[in-house]
Amino acid sequence: MRPRGLLAGAVAAVLLTGCAQAAGSSERPPLRAPGAVLAPVVHRVPTDDKVVFLTYDDGAEQDPRFIDLVRELRLPVAMFLTDSVVGPGYGHFARLQAVGASIQNHTLDHTTLRGLPHAGQRAEICGQQNKLRARFGARPRLFRPPHGRYDTTTRRVAAGCGISAVVLWRASMESDGELTYTEGPRRLGPGDIVSLPSHDPTGLPLVERTRRLLAEIRERGLRPARLEDYL
Ligand SMILES: [Zn+2]
Repeated sequence: MRPRGLLAGAVAAVLLTGCAQAAGSSERPPLRAPGAVLAPVVHRVPTDDKVVFLTYDDGAEQDPRFIDLVRELRLPVAMFLTDSVVGPGYGHFARLQAVGASIQNHTLDHTTLRGLPHAGQRAEICGQQNKLRARFGARPRLFRPPHGRYDTTTRRVAAGCGISAVVLWRASMESDGELTYTEGPRRLGPGDIVSLPSHDPTGLPLVERTRRLLAEIRERGLRPARLEDYL
């Protein structure tokens, strides 16, 4: 099954399961349709397809070998970019986009949004929407809050900035190349969203972490898929 249009029907209720714990929040907001007042929060995709989703945060590491890897393997990857981290490096991400990567929003300054007033959250989210649209020609549909921390204001502001989903994760591959999980089974399964956070200079390069992740994905009988095709 390939659910398009995030939030059609009861199946989408699963999207909200557990995300609040992942973000350290106790809220359990009702499900809303795209374009509604609150953007839905997703930490895994409810699907029986044997797919997982590769998502990369911040944009600190700008290694040309990663572009080669994405091109050679036709890897569907989503890059959640923070303006102040990318700095003058947007050309790298334009090249990544040219080989199939999607460009998504991870704020202007990587400020923790939870608890921040509406105006401050709006500046961080809409500000990066505008920057990315100016640079890449299209406004992102997906948003990841820094550190996975958000509140109801975040969801309201994101929807107002044209975001259709706040994307968290169930699995994360850290700089040591090990997978960690926010909850549930300690193995990858259908619909899992995997986050690869910023490169720790003492840790494994992104290319190496991605190769390790792909080996794990194959071992589980899964394959990478485009997140935007499912949300
Ligand atoms: Zn981040």
